Amino acid sequence: MGTKIGIIGAGSAVFSLSLIRDICLTPNLQGSTITFMDIDAGRLDAAFRLCQRYAAEIGIELDLRRTLDRREALTGADFVINTALVSGHRAMKDGWEIARRHGYRFGGSYHIMHDEAFWINYYQFRLFEDVVEDMLEICPDAWHLLVANPVLAGVTYLARKYPEHNLVGLCHGYGGVYHLAETLGLERDKITFELPGVNHFIWLTHLYHNGEDAFPLIDRWIEEQAPQYWETCPPSDGLGPKAVDLYRKFGAFPIGDTCNPGGGTWPWWYHVDGETEKRWKEDPDAWWYQGYFPHTAQRVAEAARLAADESARLTDYFPPKPSGETMVPLIESIACDIPRVLIVNILNDGDFVPGVPRDFQVEVPALVSKRGIQGIQTNGLPPELVAYIFRDRIAPVELELEAYETGSRELLFQLIMMDPWSRSEKQACALLEEILALPYHEEMRRHYC
Ligand code: NAD
Repeated sequence: MGTKIGIIGAGSAVFSLSLIRDICLTPNLQGSTITFMDIDAGRLDAAFRLCQRYAAEIGIELDLRRTLDRREALTGADFVINTALVSGHRAMKDGWEIARRHGYRFGGSYHIMHDEAFWINYYQFRLFEDVVEDMLEICPDAWHLLVANPVLAGVTYLARKYPEHNLVGLCHGYGGVYHLAETLGLERDKITFELPGVNHFIWLTHLYHNGEDAFPLIDRWIEEQAPQYWETCPPSDGLGPKAVDLYRKFGAFPIGDTCNPGGGTWPWWYHVDGETEKRWKEDPDAWWYQGYFPHTAQRVAEAARLAADESARLTDYFPPKPSGETMVPLIESIACDIPRVLIVNILNDGDFVPGVPRDFQVEVPALVSKRGIQGIQTNGLPPELVAYIFRDRIAPVELELEAYETGSRELLFQLIMMDPWSRSEKQACALLEEILALPYHEEMRRHYC
């Protein structure tokens, strides 16, 4: 019998097209049943029709279905991919506009000026819990691939509360290591690496090329080529001056979203004002408003256009090559017992990153096969980075989860007080009240009473 996959949030701008392509390019998944689920009928229909046509062009046989009913998508599922974003990009921007008026800036502001703001996460937690409870009832043995954010808080919360649930968080940010390798002139398939941490805070501690330590190559690139690279790279680049400065401080290289706007623009001291940001070639505003938002909107529009244009040859637009995302390889490894080492987000219950509490999420390599997901112990991080994990990731996430579970507005207020840009109780209180007063946050307002 073929593998059954349910996709929750199948209309996702970031993921739908790459997911579709990866499934179609995996012959082992031939004969699988894939059920697309979304609450937006238009986006659902576009994703579904594109997948149907792409599969036909590639010549892979798949049983594709679509539904607006989540429980239907979970029925009989072996794998459930969760890419849903409940409150959408608009709520993110509305909240940021309010926060900006109250003196908040991008720069290590993980629960306000970030896409994991407390007013986004609240709805995500609700959905995550609903999905897990439905899965435990309908498909208790299925694997839940949590791709929607917040992966860090979500995995920590769900894995503690539902230990019997097969959960794994996935993030494509670690792929930044390949960008670094390519920039150094190293072949992708000849490198091995270790980049432990927690989601959106991972650091390259080991990099080998053909078995040789490649860190001297990083040092040489910084000395000889980085200044030239910085002349043309975009702002907030993964190999920009800020990332290199952090590497010089800590001896480990920040990878993916660790210090870029997609991961919370850590840390604050490169962002105290426009002049400082300019000096470090940082521009989180441009990253979001000229990059991420227009790009994702364009992907949704392109999906809708191509879905409507029956004459378009989809493989011309999306050449048949793997996206590099982990979701489909992970499914293939478990379903078809093809062991692979993949980067996953799981609880630190095997002390995979020494120093991080065992009941907190970590991002680590794991052996993935029919036997499931077995974390691999890493050599860990320098002590100062573990200290920053405690201060900037663990402490606020614990507070946020406690606020969410108890519905305490006071704890939510304390979470805002922990933000690097909070300067007074008055400022934090005004922000909280103004966000909660938005008409569409009535449910959240009632929860945090
Ligand atoms: P998006 O708004 O474009 O897509 C989200 C989809 O979820 C929409 O089609 C929406 O209709 C659907 N949705 C909303 N509520 C739903 C519900 N209750 N049930 C089913 N579907 C629902 O968002 P996006 O930009 O594609 O981002 C999706 C998520 O992925 C976000 O949480 C984002 O932070 C996350 N993300 C994760 C990674 C990663 O590597 N893990 C990378 C980028 C983005």
